[in-house]
Order: sequence, then structure tokens, then C-alpha cells
Amino acid sequence: MARYIFVAGGVMSGIGKGIATASIGRILKSKGFKVTAIKIDPYINVDAGTMNPIEHGEVFVTDDGIECDQDVGNYERFLDENIYTDNYMTTGKVYLSVITKERNLEYGGECVSVVPGIPNEVIKTIKRAEKKAEADFVLIEIGGTIGEYQNLLFLEAARIMKFQHPRDVLFIMVSYLPIPSMIGEMKTKPTQQAVRNLNEAGLQADMILARSEVSLDEPRKKKLAIYCNIHPEDVVSAPDVKSVYEVPINFEKENVGNRILKKFGIKARQSNLKEWDELVKLIRNHPKTVEIGIVGKYFESGHFTLMDSYISVIEAIKHAAFSQNRKANISWISSEDFERNTKSLGELKKYAGIIVPGGFGNRGVEGKIKAIEYCRKNKIPFLGLCLGLQLSVIEFSKNVCGIKDATSREFDKNAKNPVIDVMEGQKELLKEKRYGGTMRLGAYDCELKPGTISHKAYKKSTISERHRHRYEVNNDYIKILEDKGLIVAGVNPKQNLVEIIEIKDHPFFVASQFHPEFKSRPLKPHPLFKEFIKAALRP
Ligand code: GLN
Repeated sequence: MARYIFVAGGVMSGIGKGIATASIGRILKSKGFKVTAIKIDPYINVDAGTMNPIEHGEVFVTDDGIECDQDVGNYERFLDENIYTDNYMTTGKVYLSVITKERNLEYGGECVSVVPGIPNEVIKTIKRAEKKAEADFVLIEIGGTIGEYQNLLFLEAARIMKFQHPRDVLFIMVSYLPIPSMIGEMKTKPTQQAVRNLNEAGLQADMILARSEVSLDEPRKKKLAIYCNIHPEDVVSAPDVKSVYEVPINFEKENVGNRILKKFGIKARQSNLKEWDELVKLIRNHPKTVEIGIVGKYFESGHFTLMDSYISVIEAIKHAAFSQNRKANISWISSEDFERNTKSLGELKKYAGIIVPGGFGNRGVEGKIKAIEYCRKNKIPFLGLCLGLQLSVIEFSKNVCGIKDATSREFDKNAKNPVIDVMEGQKELLKEKRYGGTMRLGAYDCELKPGTISHKAYKKSTISERHRHRYEVNNDYIKILEDKGLIVAGVNPKQNLVEIIEIKDHPFFVASQFHPEFKSRPLKPHPLFKEFIKAALRP
């Protein structure tokens, strides 16, 4: 049987529970254990696919096609392991599963109560994920904040598991210690309250990861220990870091890995974080930068600019830059600025490379098309992702092939020239408004054309990449496009769908219908991103 480590957050959200969970996973893996991680999102949404990225951050997609929280991306990046469907749960998903079983008479006439019906379903799902990964350790991150109504049933699952297997379950609380500027002192009270809330749910923290701007000092460590009923050495200092990849190294300095093993009665083991450590050193020391611009629309939220909507794209750029001994300086460019003329297209020249990432709906599309045209004409290295491919094809159709009204069926239902059309299998679903979890999702094969930039980048002919879309290049237009210099560099062999395009006589103009960013890992940068950065660095 595996060991289970629950991770939950106190005081407030957004303090790095996902990174903490992923970092602990990396440490345990580096000690030779098999590790998997599960994310629990307490929302009613059955998956993250129906959530607006501005509200919830990026929708991450796994090989088996689940649309999940961005933290699953952190797990894959830190663990360098693929994550599957049972590793992501929401309140909606758990209830849906229980209700479906009830409708199928799988409870054999029982009266199905919320408790233990729902926590039991959660536990069963955890065990399935454990089995699939053949894991020695299962990390389970409970989203939201302790004390919220929403995640109570998941804490209840943790409590039941701890009660049933006291030696095999640990509970880690990631908490925040504010330093209000008018006081100038790190305050422990909110964490004390969070621990009380946890106690009310019948749980006691075995370890507290104390997130703050700076390191935790001894007096506050002792204070937390006494008030929170925990040994001082189990209160771990977790100060802010410049790069999230520093976190496993910092946790190791605090001996987090062996302390966890000790709690499970397992002998201490050496960690092997050598390569990771080298990466962190590189990040700290890299002198030179590479300037990359992302032309998108999901980053404006009131007075704030959010990065979470494109997190995998950002990380993939960083990984590729690291591999070239560079630090990526990433800028957000709102495509709508090009529509309102509040920014001149000429500004794109400042960047060594431009990315147009995925997206949905009409807003900002015109501005993105203008940016693509500018990159094509001015030979700026360009990488298009999903919608980025679709808009590249529209731009090329309009401005090179002379199809002035070329568009996507997504933007105009009655389009005369839908160079991007709705996929056959999607038509019925859209008509019936069956939107949730029905896009073309997850991993599909793609055959690469020899001699293309993409083929050189991957150094092989068949690749597998992750998708999330309903619309596709319309094959009726391929001949016209190819005659004018567009290259179809990758095709899905089974369905004959265009997966990658390139443009002739351009230093680097590559766009993919899939999302390569989901498969980039810190020590294994994605081949397309790597080639893109290499092109960006060419004089
Ligand atoms: N909106 C487009 C589609 O559904 C592109 C999706 C995306 O960029 N992920 O096909």
C-alpha cells in the first residue's frame, strides 16, 4: 500500500500549494520512490474546461484528455511524470460519479448519504490513481482554503483515511504569514486560526510550510509550534523565491524529504537533485536574456495583469531559454491594443520572437491577425499555438491567397470561406449545446513531413501531442494555401487533420494545432519551443 500526503492551504489561496506539492513530489522521486500527485478542485464544475482562464487560470490538458487545473501542469513539470484522469477531482466530478452509480443501481438499494458516500468516492478515486501510477507516495492537494465550506467533504475524506490508516497518512498545511507594512512584523495569528479550523475538521497538521516574503525566524517558529500543536522542526520556512524551480532545493535544505520519511517510519535516504540543482544555479546566474512577446487576451483583470492563463506557455518558453543558457524576458501584449491602435505594430520589432497562444471566441482576434501579418512580413520568429495556427491560416488566406473574407466558422457561422471549419464530429455536439468535455482533447499522433523545421526539431517522423479544440483547417483550401507557400508540416494520419503549418522563406514561422506547451519539462524542453528560441537568438 502507498503512503498518502494531503496538502491543504491556510489563510488564503494563491500561496503556492501546487508548487509545494509538486516540490515534495520531486524530492521523494529523487530519493528513488514512485510518486504521483492528485489535485482536488472544490468547484461544482465537472472539470476546468468550462472555466474562464481569467478567473481560474490555464486549463491544462493531459494525455488522456482531461481538462484540469493548472497545478496538474506543475505536477507534470516537477515530477516529470504523466498524470491521468483520476488525478483530478472536482466536487462536480465526484457527485456526478456517485449519482451515475446510484442511477445504475450500483448501490444495491442503499440510501446513499453525502457522508460517507462522497468521501468514499474520493478515497476510491485516490486509490485508482495510486494503482495506475504504482505509486509509493500519493500527494493529494486540496484546493481552496481551510475553513471554506466548499472543501469540507474532501477534508472529511482525508480524516477518514487518516483514521483508517494512521501510519500511512500525513497532513501538511501550507500557510501564509503576512508582514503588514504598517506593523513591519511577521504575524502568526492567521496561521493559528487556520490550524484551529483544521482541528474542527478532525485533522491535525503534521507539518506546516510557512510561506512568507522572507524566512521564518526562530521566535516565530517556536510560537507557531506551541499554538499549533506541532514540533518546531516541523514548521518549515518557505520564503518567496525568484523562480519556482528553487522550491525543491529550498525544501531539501530544510530536510523536508527525510522528515516526511521519518514520520512514515521509513529510513532516511539521500536525494538526487543534482540536475535540478544545476538548473537552479543556471537560473540564478544567467547573464543574458531573450525577449519574447505573447500576444493574447487573457491577462487583464481589473487593475491587475495575470499570468496564470498562459502558465504552461510561459514555462515552456523558460525551459527552452534555459537550454540555451538564457533567461526569457516575457512581455504581455494585449491583441486588443492593436485593434484600438493604442499600440503600434512596430513595437513587435522589439522582440526576438512572438507567440500567439490558444484562445476562444471573437474578442481580440483581429489584433492577433495583425500581429501575425507583421511577424510574417518582417520575418520575426513566430510560434502559433492552436488558435495561433488557425489565425495564421486565416491571415495567409486573406493577405497572400487573396481570399478577403477568409475566417473561421467559430467567428462566423455563415462564413463563405471558412478556411477554418468546425470538425465533423463537433457539429452535433454544438447543436445540442453539449459543451463540457467534448472538444478534441488529449494526445493524438501526428506525422511530420521530412525537410520541415518541425521534422528537424523533433528529429523523428511520428509524434504525439495534446489537443483542445473544436475547429480545424479546412482541407478544401490546402491546395490554394500550399501553392502560395504555406507548408503543411504535420498531419494526423487517421483523420487527415492539419496539425502543423510552416511558411516558406521565413526564418521561423511555425504554428501547431496542438498545445506543445503541455509537454515541456524543465529538464526536457519541448523541441518546438527550443527551435523557436534558437531562431529568436539567431542574429
Ligand atoms: N477556439 C479554437 C477551437 O476551438 C482554438 C482553441 C484553442 O486555442 N485551444 O478550435
